Amino acid sequence: MDAIDVIRTKRDGRRLSDEQIRWFIDAYTHDKVAPEQASALLMAIVWRGMEPDELNVWTDAMLSSGERLDLSSVGMPTADKHSTGGVGDKVSLILAPLVAACGVADPMLSGRGLGHTGGTLDKLEAIPGWRADLDRDEMLRILSDVGCVICAAGGSLAPADKKLYALRDVTGTVESIALIASSIMSKKIAEGTDALVLDVKVGSGAFLPDLESARRLAETMVQLGSAHGVKTSALLTDMDTPLGRAAGNALEVTESVACLSGEGPADLRAVTLALTEEMLSLAGVAADPTAALDDGSALAKYEEMIRAQGGDPAAPLPEAPERRTVAAEKTGCLQRLDARSIGIAVWRLGAGRARQEDPVSAGAGVVCLAKRGDKVEEGQPLLELHADDSARFEHALTALEGGIVIGREEPEQQPLIIEKITA
Ligand code: URA
Repeated sequence: MDAIDVIRTKRDGRRLSDEQIRWFIDAYTHDKVAPEQASALLMAIVWRGMEPDELNVWTDAMLSSGERLDLSSVGMPTADKHSTGGVGDKVSLILAPLVAACGVADPMLSGRGLGHTGGTLDKLEAIPGWRADLDRDEMLRILSDVGCVICAAGGSLAPADKKLYALRDVTGTVESIALIASSIMSKKIAEGTDALVLDVKVGSGAFLPDLESARRLAETMVQLGSAHGVKTSALLTDMDTPLGRAAGNALEVTESVACLSGEGPADLRAVTLALTEEMLSLAGVAADPTAALDDGSALAKYEEMIRAQGGDPAAPLPEAPERRTVAAEKTGCLQRLDARSIGIAVWRLGAGRARQEDPVSAGAGVVCLAKRGDKVEEGQPLLELHADDSARFEHALTALEGGIVIGREEPEQQPLIIEKITA
């Protein structure tokens, strides 16, 4: 097999053979194909795409580059959720203990934030003592004992994706439905869950903002999951404006705990419940997640999970010392509170990172004091910016230009749950 032949095949718009795919993924994972050759193939895939059965084999080869977890010892049905990433998207922190409280185990392997979107592990690391890095035995023990665990994916799961993703990040080859779908699904299938619900974000704060691309990504991922024996469905959900009121690591932990206590913003609660109900339905478990939020059982599971991973759920969270408010420039209705602008502001305030190895601020972020659709008065505070260093405010404020629109009319109602995609 020859890397140049594989590259030429895709460059010329032809289907890669199963042998070519399996050879290439294996050779690249084991450093037998040069990064420049892998980059050329990735760029050819961005341009030419992949046929459904070709993508199945590509995903399977990525999956087979590592181990697939065996969760049979857990003794409960298993299900997980994956979000394509957004601003203020703290659903995972609430949902994993919530499904566990309903009798479904969630082995949630999560990532860190990159760019304007937040990462679940960065958020939980704001809790003093909490550890994201667990070995496989520890992860399985916590999953069996508590019913949920949220941790970093170890190097043994889909190692091909780790190498390919790092390369895509620096070669302009992230934005491809085939490559995004295979990257996400190879990791999620490797987790070993029986069922998977995908939260595919639509709107300015999403990876693929337009509805048509989000729908195609969702359909592709649902098809890949089903082809690998995982019951998979997807909800397309709104990410044109931040989810909930808080965006930033510790701020989002606080809001998640409020939601787990039966409070918290209505949009966050609604999206979390919709995804949870979908997971319970795929897992074949009849339970009432609303009751589990309101009666404290989901909160008790959350505290158990945090303690099992070394954290102290009662410890005060870090707070950024510097604050700045952004006020309404006129009286009217808040027509636009743009998710991407807020996400970039949060990132510039120090909550996000430019490179995977950068540190993040636990306390930095933005609190939305008003939400899209609210009536506001001139001078009324709309946003509260939090940072460790006041020098960050100016750059963050420029990200908000054009992202806040106040007008006379109410904005058009946008559904939170836009569409469901099933196999
Ligand atoms: N998340 C992933 O894990 N992979 C992608 O390609 C994009 C988002």
